[in-house]
Amino acid sequence: MVLKGIKLRIYPSPAQQLEIKLNFGYNRFVWNQMLNMMRNRHENNPQAPFLNAFALNSLLPALKREYPWLKEAESTSLQSTCHDLVAAFQKFFKETNVGFPKFKSRKFPKQSYNVKFSGTSLAIKSEHIIRIPKVGLMSFRAGSEITGQLKSATIKLSATGKYYAVLLVEIEVLPFAKTSQAVGIDLGVTDLMITSDGKKHPTIRFDKHLAKKKYYWEKRLARRRRQAQKEIAWDHQNEVPAPRELSDFKNYQQAKLMVAKYNEKIANQRRNYLHQLTIQLVKQYDVIKIEDLKTKNLLKNHQLARAIANQSWREIRRQLAYKCAWYGKQLVLVNPWKTSQLCANCGYDDGKHGLSIREWTCPNCKTNHDRDVNAAKNILAATA
Ligand SMILES: [Zn+2]
Repeated sequence: MVLKGIKLRIYPSPAQQLEIKLNFGYNRFVWNQMLNMMRNRHENNPQAPFLNAFALNSLLPALKREYPWLKEAESTSLQSTCHDLVAAFQKFFKETNVGFPKFKSRKFPKQSYNVKFSGTSLAIKSEHIIRIPKVGLMSFRAGSEITGQLKSATIKLSATGKYYAVLLVEIEVLPFAKTSQAVGIDLGVTDLMITSDGKKHPTIRFDKHLAKKKYYWEKRLARRRRQAQKEIAWDHQNEVPAPRELSDFKNYQQAKLMVAKYNEKIANQRRNYLHQLTIQLVKQYDVIKIEDLKTKNLLKNHQLARAIANQSWREIRRQLAYKCAWYGKQLVLVNPWKTSQLCANCGYDDGKHGLSIREWTCPNCKTNHDRDVNAAKNILAATA
């Protein structure tokens, strides 16, 4: 049994949208209250043991007594929020690049809360109708078939103003047929993936396809923000009783929405492309070997093409990891050594090849190598 996320676009009525937004607020409030409490606790006594999700949950009734309107919240969502906060702290303590958990703002463009599935409160009622606890029945659209047992749902509002429910379902996945094939994959910048079979999958710059339109709105966004800020400053200087805020400027909000829309489109296109590539690999091969990204040069890089490549590599590894686990295949992370200088045919070390050298001939066995395909072959041959 594995857990799978299924994303639904949901269509709440205006009253239901309000109910959903209230729940965002309740959960944001609980997050901020608990975070504040944990910070104070740590400041007062750095030796105090770290509170777990169970301990935080046990504080919820007291919080509800103090703030009675919290009783209106979907109750499993508050527990989920406590759980997420503890997870954020654990991540902060364990991993090096993770910051201290932050307070959540009402102005953050993406909002969400999570509800657990219990009995009949959250359920798919028919092909197009879902019931969300405390919110009620509404229609939905799903990209894929909904099967398996519902565990929970995350209700989300995107930066572009669309509502989603991401269902977590427990399903049984049938493994793919075995093929007895193995492959080594070199990850690159111009070509995103090069396989040891000699196949090259290009990097597609989805951001460039939409760049003109996005740039058009980015320019407007910057100009409208400047204009709005000027007018807000004027309000303050003249002590207007209710000075305007950025949210009062409709044309600024519109530009912000359009930029978010294009970013969302670009991200979706890129993710779909990577899904196609990784599912193909998992179907075709039993063993997939890629470089351990830790060894790859993931330096902070300001070059856009390189930054996009780094992001795509991480996403490829993430997708391959769970798809291999689901479908009974094996992902091997190898620590490649001299992949671009050793001959994959005879093992001769030809010394460093600069990035500009795209092909070379082994002086020992006379094999002509494509630089990247040779590297992928070395990855296939490498031991973990
Ligand atoms: Zn050779």
